[in-house]
Amino acid sequence: MKVFVTRKIPESGINLLKDHHTVTVSKKDRVLSKTEIIDQAQDAEGLLCLLTDTIDSEVISSLPNLKMIANYAVGFNNVDVKVATQKKIPVSNTPEVLTDTTAELAWALVFSVARRIVESDSFCRDGKFEGWGPMLMLGQDVTKKTLGIIGAGRIGTAMALKSKGFNMNILYVDPEHNSVLESELDAQKTDLSTLLSTSDIVSLHVPLTDDTYHLIGEKELESMKETAVLINTSRGPIIDENALIKALENNQIFGAGLDVYEQEPKIPKRLKQLNNAVILPHIGSATRETRSKMADMAAENMIQGLNGKQPSNCVNPEVFE
Ligand code: NAD
Repeated sequence: MKVFVTRKIPESGINLLKDHHTVTVSKKDRVLSKTEIIDQAQDAEGLLCLLTDTIDSEVISSLPNLKMIANYAVGFNNVDVKVATQKKIPVSNTPEVLTDTTAELAWALVFSVARRIVESDSFCRDGKFEGWGPMLMLGQDVTKKTLGIIGAGRIGTAMALKSKGFNMNILYVDPEHNSVLESELDAQKTDLSTLLSTSDIVSLHVPLTDDTYHLIGEKELESMKETAVLINTSRGPIIDENALIKALENNQIFGAGLDVYEQEPKIPKRLKQLNNAVILPHIGSATRETRSKMADMAAENMIQGLNGKQPSNCVNPEVFE
């Protein structure tokens, strides 16, 4: 069968696919428009796409042979899963393999913000360092502080477990009880307003859905501590970005570490001007090992789906009921 891959991904996944199917990889090393995807995947049975591709109702309905969509990400808010399900097309994602990598990045952001790492680095490079100073670049301690995890799923759990060396008090918000966090870290399940008003570090790990859109807005930011650090490695629209910029400009919270943005890849100028924001180009899962594992996983899901089997990481298993 024919598989269209919307952008170059690590070779191992492509080779795996080529063992079973005829594979075309987009020659453009950039995000394809919807029209380009429709055009280039026109006769494809399999579509291997990225989180930056919009696979909406129009795209799905315009690909007459489509039998399987393998998304190269754990988040799948870029795919209209409801429409795919109606058309009996399985959709898969790449969970687990990127969990520790993304949790590590969340920690990198915690320390970057709390200890003003990026600002301090620029300070040195700009020739401003004139010697140790008692009031120079004062940040926030992390050890023994309260870490609030919003969305205690795979990545949220990994992030919290990695706090063990820092003896932290752990709070979490999730519709489900998390027995691992409760038994290993004595974590407490709480509500959003308690978590926000009592945490020193708040880290977001929820999927982007209608329920989580703008979960953190003006009111939520106002309820946070003045010394708090907010980390977002989930999806940009979970935070009302304008409200966050205002809060950071007014030093309403200590700082924010962001890997994702509301209008990606656009980052507002006002956000770029803030010293108390550390901004990264959506690199949560960006290590060589993890990206290769994601490519292999997406390819394996594609092969299973095109064989008429339920892919191991199917997000709409009801297609097979
Ligand atoms: P997961 O499904 O294991 O965890 C999500 C958790 O959020 C679940 O436990 C769910 O119950 C909880 N949840 C859902 N709605 C909630 C709400 N309203 N309030 C509180 N909790 C809620 O997913 P995961 O593998 O941990 O990934 C989480 C998200 O991280 C992904 O959906 C993706 O968008 C994002 N992500 C980003 C990067 C990156 O590059 N920055 C990398 C990987 C994942």
